[in-house]
Amino acid sequence: MKKEITIVGAGLVGSLLSIYLAKRGHKVKVYERRSDMRKEKVAAGRSINLALSDRGLLALEKVGLAAEIKKISIPMHGRFIHNLDGTTAFQPYGKEGQFINSVSRGELNKRLMDIAEENGVQILFNEKCTNLDWDKDVIEFENTAGKQHPTSRADIVFGADGAFSAARMQHQLRHDKFDYQQYYIDCGYKELTIPPNAEGEFAMEVNALHIWPRKDYMLIALPNLDKSFTCTLFFPFEGEASFSKLDTAEKVKAFFEKTFPDAVKLMPEYVNEFFNNPTSSLVTVKCFPWIREDKFALIGDAAHAIVPFFGQGMNCGFEDCRILDELIEKNGDDWKTILQQYQTLRKPDADAIADLAVNNFTEMRDRTADSKFLLQKKIEARLHEKYPDKWIPAYSQVTFSPNIRYSEALQRGLKQEAIMQEVMNMEGIEGKWESEDVERIVLEKLERR
Ligand SMILES: Cc1cc2nc3c(=O)[nH]c(=O)nc-3n(C[C@H](O)[C@H](O)[C@H](O)COP(=O)(O)OP(=O)(O)OC[C@H]3O[C@@H](n4cnc5c(N)ncnc54)[C@H](O)[C@@H]3O)c2cc1C
Repeated sequence: MKKEITIVGAGLVGSLLSIYLAKRGHKVKVYERRSDMRKEKVAAGRSINLALSDRGLLALEKVGLAAEIKKISIPMHGRFIHNLDGTTAFQPYGKEGQFINSVSRGELNKRLMDIAEENGVQILFNEKCTNLDWDKDVIEFENTAGKQHPTSRADIVFGADGAFSAARMQHQLRHDKFDYQQYYIDCGYKELTIPPNAEGEFAMEVNALHIWPRKDYMLIALPNLDKSFTCTLFFPFEGEASFSKLDTAEKVKAFFEKTFPDAVKLMPEYVNEFFNNPTSSLVTVKCFPWIREDKFALIGDAAHAIVPFFGQGMNCGFEDCRILDELIEKNGDDWKTILQQYQTLRKPDADAIADLAVNNFTEMRDRTADSKFLLQKKIEARLHEKYPDKWIPAYSQVTFSPNIRYSEALQRGLKQEAIMQEVMNMEGIEGKWESEDVERIVLEKLERR
């Protein structure tokens, strides 16, 4: 039976979800707090560009959109490391032919909205969800453009309204045993720009994600289609080197020239941008339950906000949509079972990627500059090459193996990391890492654990 479905939030996940549900014949309305970004120049939200990887692409592929979105993406084949001494190094993300994709958040969101509407979805803008009342069976919105408040009813409501979800709050208020955890890391982020060079070309290698790892903080840069790069400085709020300490243009200049000397030459506006662009925080949200009977479910960041260091928040939200759709396929009209199974399957995976993402911060800002870590990556890449089914590096499991669940990737990754720590502690590993002996020891340990 076809349902009337309301989605709160026309962000990346709400828009994709609406396409999935419309393609199944449901009548879908999406209520979005902001104005229509396709008509007005509004900030598209957090981070200007994002890394789209295989999980996200698979979810797009299932509704026939992967090829179209790839057209507005730039492949990034690995990390391009900028060391403090001016040397650089390229670390491939995976095997030959494996890459992640830099895509503009705004362009992707706009395309998804267009496609949603082409599939019969109705998107209502300037509608901020304020109340979900199960007793009266109404959803209330406040019109942010000052129009009359619409109320709505629906058979099923999805809360896709992001990390600070109003739908989640309403769900929590009406649930007596709602678990909720939220924690901020002590770093925030700020976006800066590397424009095209004097010839109008990319100022650095285009097919890479650039990283300036500096132990307690880092700068990263992703390419844009207009040949610029969007840089993000992940930086402590407080402490010796921190946002709070860099409070004058002189201090910002002195710090950047000392810490990111090669980047500074490419960022003519960084001092102005530093003071004019917002400093934003990074939060992890875990909660449970995500659903209410056959009537309501949280999805995307509203269910599981994570920090961006694995580049998986959107990918995970897109995967939510794909898995939900597979459960609709399996269970037909039985929405109680669909939502129950959705929650059972996705909650452990969302928790796992949340933990993996926090851990990856240390790896990106600190370990990518460490020669021992680079050797470890080389050993793992070699093992993967020779034993592709037995040894898949954790990064590849998360990024290039959408058939491995995040929870499985976390477990396998921990096991492999423990083995690698033993290997890295072997005497003279630098000279014998390619030997059959090392290989045999690793395989034995893998069998035993
Ligand atoms: C710095 C940074 C970098 C990132 N990089 C990556 C990356 O490289 N790869 C990746 O996969 N992920 C990345 N992410 C994560 C990604 O941005 C999120 O996971 C993704 O945006 C989640 O999509 P969403 O639709 O669930 O939520 P959102 O994108 O937050 O969309 C929620 C929508 O709901 C609307 N809304 C909010 N409240 C209401 C309300 N009360 N009523 C109606 N509408 C409402 C909002 O206006 C918005 O349009 C990054 C995040 C950050 C912060």
